[in-house]
Amino acid sequence: MKWEYGRRHRQATRLRRRFFFGILLVAVILTAVYAVMRSGSYGFTWAIPKLPLGFSASQADEDSKESSRSEFLMDTFVSIRAVGPNQEQAIEAAVDGMRRVESLMSRHIPDSDVSRINEGAGGEPVKVSEETFYVIEEAVKCARLTKGAFDITIGPLMDVWNFGAEDPAIPDAEEIEKARSLIGWELVELDSANRTVRLPIEGMSIDLGGVAKGYAASEGARILLEYGISHALIDAGGNIVTIGSRSDGEPWQIGIRDPRGESIEDTIGPTLSILNGAVATSGDYERFFIYDGRRYHHILRPDTGMPVETARSVTVMAKDPLYADMLSTAVFVLGPDEGIKFIETLDGISAMIVTDDGSIVFSKGFPKMH
Ligand code: ADP
Ligand code: MG
Repeated sequence: MKWEYGRRHRQATRLRRRFFFGILLVAVILTAVYAVMRSGSYGFTWAIPKLPLGFSASQADEDSKESSRSEFLMDTFVSIRAVGPNQEQAIEAAVDGMRRVESLMSRHIPDSDVSRINEGAGGEPVKVSEETFYVIEEAVKCARLTKGAFDITIGPLMDVWNFGAEDPAIPDAEEIEKARSLIGWELVELDSANRTVRLPIEGMSIDLGGVAKGYAASEGARILLEYGISHALIDAGGNIVTIGSRSDGEPWQIGIRDPRGESIEDTIGPTLSILNGAVATSGDYERFFIYDGRRYHHILRPDTGMPVETARSVTVMAKDPLYADMLSTAVFVLGPDEGIKFIETLDGISAMIVTDDGSIVFSKGFPKMH
């Protein structure tokens, strides 16, 4: 009996010990995963840093009238908060609409309009949806206005840099030159009567990464409005659009992420009060790698083939999220001096730039204090 008791006791102790080590192991793994995510040193865009200040579970709980939802789409986190009749269905429909935009404009989805245009490069014109045609038309206008600083035919260059790779590296000069020779927004053939797009040279490709999330956000907002939603905020990976005010009547408060902040909650510059408007930030911290102490990131200069080095982030305020998204990328490439001059030629649009040395410059009309 004694022996029996001893064995059971030993077994129980062993079980307890295993249980304890199991818990410890899970805790260590969770901490490690959290640390990797916080460091932002891997592939995808982490959207929480760009959520508006004051957005938290507790606030959403307090405001029981509000529904919210978060989804991973267009390679980023999209969150929607809405108040109004049928708000759950409205959010559902908005997410579906945004997914549809992704299925048209992603170049990683095989049958998307953009994939078909790219596969057809050097061949026949490709018929596309009205939406894709509109976005490409707007992007080409922006290319003209920025003299090619913003250029959606950047596809081949994005491919050689391949920031999505597990172990991205600096491409060699030859590869960059070859990719650069395939860039040229002026070559894009748009036929509005037949709604077709043609890239004349095989190997050319378009990449709507600098504008499609903004368009998707506007589509999401359009659908919410159709459902009669009166208060909403959509954040598509840092591309924010709002409908009305918050449900308490106050404007939405949007913090701008500090591009070199330790914490994802660190902000820089003013807190923006937004009513019925859009704001987008493009940053060198979204997709990047560091090599030999230098940062290489996903916003590229079509003229040199290299990442832009004159800014850390650009925030643009506009009525339409498509413009906020497109222009934040465009101004990033233009750089602080030209970028601010350019923005000041546009009505109702303003920008804030965090330059390469960390100082902040504002265009006219950007709210500096709040
Ligand atoms: P994010 O996608 O991180 O929100 P942006 O809106 O600034 O950031 O878009 C960056 C994306 O724009 C890149 O991932 C690429 O798809 C595209 N892009 C990069 N350089 C250019 C450029 N010079 N002109 C147009 N699009 C660009
Ligand atoms: Mg953009």
